[in-house]
Amino acid sequence: MRVVGFCCNECAYAAADLAGSTHRVHPPEVLVVRIPCSGIVDPSWLVYALAKGADAVFVAGCRKGECHYVDGNFKAESRVAFVKELLKSVGVEPERVEMFFMAASEPHKFVEAAKEMVRRVEELGPLERKGAPKREGKKGVIASSLLAIAKTVIDAPLPEIPGFRVPNFSSECIGCGACVETCPERALKVRDYNGKRVIELNARRCTSCGKCVEVCDEVEKALTLGGMTLKQLLEEWSVVSAHDLVECEVCGRPFATQRELDRSGSPKVCPSCKERLSARAMVVGRVGP
Ligand code: SF4
Ligand code: SF4
Repeated sequence: MRVVGFCCNECAYAAADLAGSTHRVHPPEVLVVRIPCSGIVDPSWLVYALAKGADAVFVAGCRKGECHYVDGNFKAESRVAFVKELLKSVGVEPERVEMFFMAASEPHKFVEAAKEMVRRVEELGPLERKGAPKREGKKGVIASSLLAIAKTVIDAPLPEIPGFRVPNFSSECIGCGACVETCPERALKVRDYNGKRVIELNARRCTSCGKCVEVCDEVEKALTLGGMTLKQLLEEWSVVSAHDLVECEVCGRPFATQRELDRSGSPKVCPSCKERLSARAMVVGRVGP
């Protein structure tokens, strides 16, 4: 059995240290990782630790309202809650992750936290793994770690936390592709195939910068930033918007969405046919009476 505890330097690690120096017995299965503040804990650390061999992980920070870096412990708490949701979505017991708060002068609280996590693993049993996580950026680490420990995969909406927000497309989208052009991370792409225009999102590349939302707000208000789904996190590309394409009345090639044409008031003629027709009209005009 292995339990990993990320302990903030200011309070939790000091409490663990005091527990040792005051001869309080705590379980040897707990590996303490000393970190400057609980607020630096990233969700990827927690799931990576589980995928690499820990049966449970916990984060221990200062008491609420007493964080030495203002709100690091609150950030850690929301990330732990996020990881619990991630685990639930792949059929793993959320009790394998926990957040604890303690003061430097409370070594008994560290011992209680360590014992509690060991007790939970004894009750739940060891965590089974089907593979090893890959080191491909934070979201890539999370995705591959989750796949390594997944028992089932339930596609659920995940809670919104900073860095894990993605553009959500509404039914107002006209398929113009302006958002795709704007994205500096190449997290969006647009393709026309089989008579459809499809916009796809790579949630792992998205940095939640909101540039796509700004450009769309000027046009159609079809985009907002919101929480991602588990499927979006696990898949490299997922379809976020799809539209039937209208065929050109001259050449028959599908070229634009009906909503694009409605907005621009253009006829159902593709740009290349338009160019050809206007060139022909100019020639006719020149030689005509
Ligand atoms: S979300 Fe907005 S900018 Fe993007 S394709 Fe749809 S309408 Fe265009
Ligand atoms: S929020 Fe930023 S990174 Fe994400 S898809 Fe939009 S423009 Fe790209």
